[in-house]
Amino acid sequence: MSADPVLVAGGGIGGLAAALALARKGRAVRVFEQGAEFREIGAGIQLGPNVYRMFEALGLTHAIERYSVHPDNLVMKDALTGEDVIRVPVGGDAFRERFGGYLYGVIHRGDLYQVLLETCRAHDRIELNALTRCLSYEERGDRVVLQLEGGGRVEGCALIGADGLWSKVRAQLLADGKPRVSGHIAYRAVLPRAEVPGDLWQNNVVLWAGPRTHLVHYPLRRGELYNLVAVFHSDRYEEGWDVYGDPAELHAKFASERPEVRRLLEKINVWKMWVLCDREPAREWSRGRVTLLGDAAHPMLQYLAQGANMALEDAVVLAAYAELAGWDFARAFRWYQDARYLRTARVQVTARYYGDIYHAAGVVREVRNWFLASKPGADPNARPSFEGVAWLYDGIRVPTAPPAA
Ligand SMILES: Cc1cc2nc3c(=O)[nH]c(=O)nc-3n(C[C@H](O)[C@H](O)[C@H](O)COP(=O)(O)OP(=O)(O)OC[C@H]3O[C@@H](n4cnc5c(N)ncnc54)[C@H](O)[C@@H]3O)c2cc1C
Repeated sequence: MSADPVLVAGGGIGGLAAALALARKGRAVRVFEQGAEFREIGAGIQLGPNVYRMFEALGLTHAIERYSVHPDNLVMKDALTGEDVIRVPVGGDAFRERFGGYLYGVIHRGDLYQVLLETCRAHDRIELNALTRCLSYEERGDRVVLQLEGGGRVEGCALIGADGLWSKVRAQLLADGKPRVSGHIAYRAVLPRAEVPGDLWQNNVVLWAGPRTHLVHYPLRRGELYNLVAVFHSDRYEEGWDVYGDPAELHAKFASERPEVRRLLEKINVWKMWVLCDREPAREWSRGRVTLLGDAAHPMLQYLAQGANMALEDAVVLAAYAELAGWDFARAFRWYQDARYLRTARVQVTARYYGDIYHAAGVVREVRNWFLASKPGADPNARPSFEGVAWLYDGIRVPTAPPAA
């Protein structure tokens, strides 16, 4: 390991992607993860065509393709009537042609994480340290000193805070308090294919939109598994992550919805619960040789299914600018933040708005269905234009030159 590594706090998808992106450019990286081992919790993750470009930049395309599933459609159904509200054909030639040869994908988080982890482990410039909690940092001239729980200290040329929603690095860098508790709760579970009733299995990402609820399902791992995410409004919880939920509350929230929804929910014995939080977008998240990445920088509600996608984009952009800045990290981190803040803020803001659309009740629900029925994609015979999602799925270009002054 070189004497001058970049330090990364947090070994989630964002932290590992940043380590890999920098190591591929020749930098030594030390990653510090508080968990007893490097692993990812949760179930499925959706992959927009924008993130497939990033997999290419990270040399991961083939490994990811071994595990991901390409759904035929994104479908929104009304959970009270069962009617299709909108159907976006993301698995066909029209989508692929529109988005530079990339399709939409879904993958088990564990599989995505394993691909990243194995690639990092195989890299001699990356050092992975589990059971190492980062507490604070100090900038000393051209060095950053990271204070670890238990009294240890490590030194590097720069620090990336990829330590997620409750980031310690952010708390010190921005001192902007706790994340915003949205009042939305997600329950997640995975079913083996054999347990999914035949008439309910489909190769689509389906979202059943109900009043103050929604249920999403899609196949995972070459179709061997079925991912379920049920979301509802509840003010019972302030904080909570990866804890066992209360199925009675879950079933009560969906009681008036279509039998297909209730039949799927009844199949699950064990649900893990997440209290969903985000933050107001920030304009700046870099100072000197310290920056933030992924959920630490721009935590968002999951309604656009883009949090991990954005973390992967961050990692690729950050590493590209670090190299272009001649490894002047203070300059590179400013370029990176300036390149990223508007796009990620747009995803943060739009995700909240999508949540309102999914959970619409009463007349607002009727307006939603009426409005979306007149959108491109609603008519199965019309050629889809995909313009509504182009700003997101067109993705980003990997920087090849410093930003214009
Ligand atoms: C219900 C739900 C569904 C979602 N679906 C999608 C989807 O379909 N597509 C998508 O792109 N995104 C999705 N997301 C969002 C996605 O999960 C996150 O945006 C993504 O995991 C963020 O990655 P990260 O590495 O920035 O943070 P995290 O995954 O939170 O990783 C942070 C890591 O840092 C570690 N850590 C924290 N504090 C410290 C410390 N002090 N010292 C050392 N280590 C520390 C943690 O243990 C963790 O390993 C979803 C989220 C939810 C809740």
